[in-house]
Amino acid sequence: MEGKVALVLGVANRWSIGHAIAKAFVREGAEVILTYQGDRQKQTVEELASEIKARQVLPCDVTEDAQVDALASMLANELKSRDTALNAVVHSIAFANREDLSRPFVETSRAGFALAQDVSAYSLVAVARATAPLMAAPGHDGAPGGGSIMTLTYLGSTRVVENYNVMGVAKASLEASVRYLAAGLGPSNIRVNAISAGAVKTTSARGIRDFSKMLEGGAKLAPLRRATDPVEVADTAVFLASDLGRGVTGNIIYVDAGMQIMGFALTE
Ligand code: NAP
Repeated sequence: MEGKVALVLGVANRWSIGHAIAKAFVREGAEVILTYQGDRQKQTVEELASEIKARQVLPCDVTEDAQVDALASMLANELKSRDTALNAVVHSIAFANREDLSRPFVETSRAGFALAQDVSAYSLVAVARATAPLMAAPGHDGAPGGGSIMTLTYLGSTRVVENYNVMGVAKASLEASVRYLAAGLGPSNIRVNAISAGAVKTTSARGIRDFSKMLEGGAKLAPLRRATDPVEVADTAVFLASDLGRGVTGNIIYVDAGMQIMGFALTE
């Protein structure tokens, strides 16, 4: 990823999947720009950025169109001043009300449903629309231009995972958005994919009732008989962001120790 510039949205702390991805990008030679949601998170994200040697930290609450647009113009100025383009965008963001991740799905309120969709699915569309123009146009010299946009999803989009509820529906919408975005942006050589990660203990994950049972159960059932390491998710993000992933778009890539192939097991 030497010489590439990547934007990573969704680093809250050192346990965030986005943090592992940003670290891996820097390890592979990329320049990384992080975002934070609000002033509450500013200092933490700035400290993490300096630790992992990210280049810049910018504000962005993805539910506010004005903030998404402001992020794009700050990035545009920065990229222009250095005569470069954006190569990769990582959308590692999700949110749902805590009560919607514990009570029966049928109890989901209209507002809770809309909130989960807005933050966890629509925001990918908003971010893609704002950042795609910052990626390089195809060059006269035959350079393909374009870039790579990716998001994080979970098995609860296609299977019922107890308590994942409204977030599973939002992830189904997110995955469909990946396909439509990939089709729309493909002619500009912009690839759009999702990584479906196995359960990882993060702040968001702790909001799901009985998450530790989900983590332990998954580790027992998965073909590799272990939980997912965020570093392996990050390595797949490197693949997608780099030229190695140049033929891959519109895909959901599972990095979950094989969990998604399993039905149920007869052994303890
Ligand atoms: P995390 O560390 O809590 O990251 C979630 C991030 O989303 C936080 O940085 C949070 O910022 C941000 N966010 C929420 N609302 C936002 C908004 N309106 N504007 C901007 N940012 C906002 O948890 P994570 O597990 O790494 O989650 C990252 C992604 O991976 C999510 O899409 C999640 O669904 C997905 N995923 C997680 C797992 C897992 O088991 N952990 C498995 C598969 C997929 P604040 O902290 O400032 O609110």
